[in-house]
Amino acid sequence: MRYSNYFIPTHREIPADAEVISHQLMLRAGLIRKLTSGIYTYLPAGLRSIKKVEQIIREEMNRAGAIEVLMPAVQPAELWQESGRWDYYGRELLRFRDRHNRDACFGPTHEEVITDLVRDEVQSYKQLPLNFYQIQTKFRDEIRPRFGIMRGREFIMKDAYSFDANEEGAGKSYDRMYEAYTRIFERCGLRFKAVEADTGPIGGNYSHEFMVLAESGEDLIASCLQCRYAANLEKAEIRPLKGGGPSKEETLQEMQEVHTPDIKTIDDLAAFLSVSPGELLKTLIYRVDDGEIVAALVRGDHELNEAKFRNLLGAETLEMADPETVHQTTGAPTGFAGPVGLKVRMVADQAVKKMKNFVAGANREDFHLRNVNLGRDFQVEQFGDIRTITPQDTCPRCGGGIEFKRGIEVGHIFKLGTKYSRAMNAVYLDEQGRKEFMVMGCYGIGVGRTVAAAIEQNHDEEGIIFPIQIAPFEVIILPLQMHESTVIDTAERIYRLLRDNDRDVLLDDRNERAGVKFMDADLLGIPLRVTVGTRGVKNGEVEVKIRAEKDPHSIPIQDAPDFIMKQVRLLYDSTQ
Ligand code: ATP
Ligand code: MG
Repeated sequence: MRYSNYFIPTHREIPADAEVISHQLMLRAGLIRKLTSGIYTYLPAGLRSIKKVEQIIREEMNRAGAIEVLMPAVQPAELWQESGRWDYYGRELLRFRDRHNRDACFGPTHEEVITDLVRDEVQSYKQLPLNFYQIQTKFRDEIRPRFGIMRGREFIMKDAYSFDANEEGAGKSYDRMYEAYTRIFERCGLRFKAVEADTGPIGGNYSHEFMVLAESGEDLIASCLQCRYAANLEKAEIRPLKGGGPSKEETLQEMQEVHTPDIKTIDDLAAFLSVSPGELLKTLIYRVDDGEIVAALVRGDHELNEAKFRNLLGAETLEMADPETVHQTTGAPTGFAGPVGLKVRMVADQAVKKMKNFVAGANREDFHLRNVNLGRDFQVEQFGDIRTITPQDTCPRCGGGIEFKRGIEVGHIFKLGTKYSRAMNAVYLDEQGRKEFMVMGCYGIGVGRTVAAAIEQNHDEEGIIFPIQIAPFEVIILPLQMHESTVIDTAERIYRLLRDNDRDVLLDDRNERAGVKFMDADLLGIPLRVTVGTRGVKNGEVEVKIRAEKDPHSIPIQDAPDFIMKQVRLLYDSTQ
């Protein structure tokens, strides 16, 4: 490609509204442009990177036996009503009506569409297993689109859906996707970790997220310092408590009501009563799917984990009760709820079992209770692991130390079980002619997010340092003096030779100053740069520099193509 015939609108200034480095660099390097909130155009060079990621995904999906299809973006509401998600998906689902007043949505994901296809087309166990994938544009009306294409509203996703005759087959399909994902992200040159994850509103019972490790990541991962255990914070389990009752040998004290005016936080309350936050109980009022009000009880120094709480309740959705509901339920404003005398279902974190003579809200404005005790003063219907892990906790598998890391979720795989096949009656006939539900899995990769995550991990002051696999071009050639025929001839010769060898080369044939060409090449992050200048050519040399390295190599002109080809191979070999 000749730069003069191409379109890479670069900028020097850092865009004011871009918070993270990948977003800044993608704008500055002329890879993307914003149309409106969370919606972007992929400019030519950006599109080349996207296409390279797609190609890697295609190759690995095909290798794993998945079959490419392309499903519609617009989906009829009926299918979502059948699966039950029309009511549950929430406001991320972009809904609209067509001219016949029929409800529809723009697909945020395609479980319904693929299940509808497969139930119509597949009747026998002989046709299973099947795994279909597509690379397609999704829309999710994200509440906070940000970080450029990392969290867009419209974005490109690879999604795949497997259909098996039984759990064992579904397990194998899942494992094959796990391996394919590992290969995909390795080939994209990413440093990543597969972590156990919550299944969220997609449903199902088992899942892993592929996390690119980066400071700017929106997700927190708890990982063990000793064993391989790693999980999203939403999911990370707490080691079960040993024994049942309270650990302290204290006797039960008499419960007392205390006046606690002007107290806003748990820390204020602890200081006011001269106790530690761990001696307080938090009572949080929630509204579940069908409207039932449930109280969650956690120790004052712990955080309720909504994902775990939702799973324990077996609920689809969960929201904190509004102040009015809290008042109706507890008889007091928010901040004074407590378990004593509360007339709703109460679910407590397992750590609450060990508490004794603790402080809780009095269900009366400006009052708390001291010396509250489980069993004597109130009953809990269910105990479970409903709090978020902390770095002070130990690994649920081996007891080792836990550290927190930040990650960007680039891929997510789920075992769905029969959730959708039951809801939508996707059945097959087994060898005995009996009807059975198909066992499903689903597997997503954010294509644009993968490019952005790669930039988060690979950049410096000057710009992007693309992993060669997903770089818009592998090599950039900079002829520095465009009026010098020896310079142009040399650059053209190397350009042709590399192209004849199927390399992706960009020849910067613009009439720009050397400084501009260097800056743009670095900003764009092309892995190999070949500089052709008057002085070098006079000495029979060109300069080859690897973007990720500090020092350039001076190479005799006749050796340059071989040298470059070898460097390209080495760069590929380092990740494949
Ligand atoms: P997140 O937790 O980041 O909102 P998710 O869990 O809702 O993502 P999935 O439903 O698992 O996402 O979608 C599969 C993949 O699609 C994700 O792993 C991610 O790479 C990508 N993805 C999801 N939402 C977005 C988005 N708003 N913009 C860009 N990519 C996205
Ligand atoms: Mg996810």
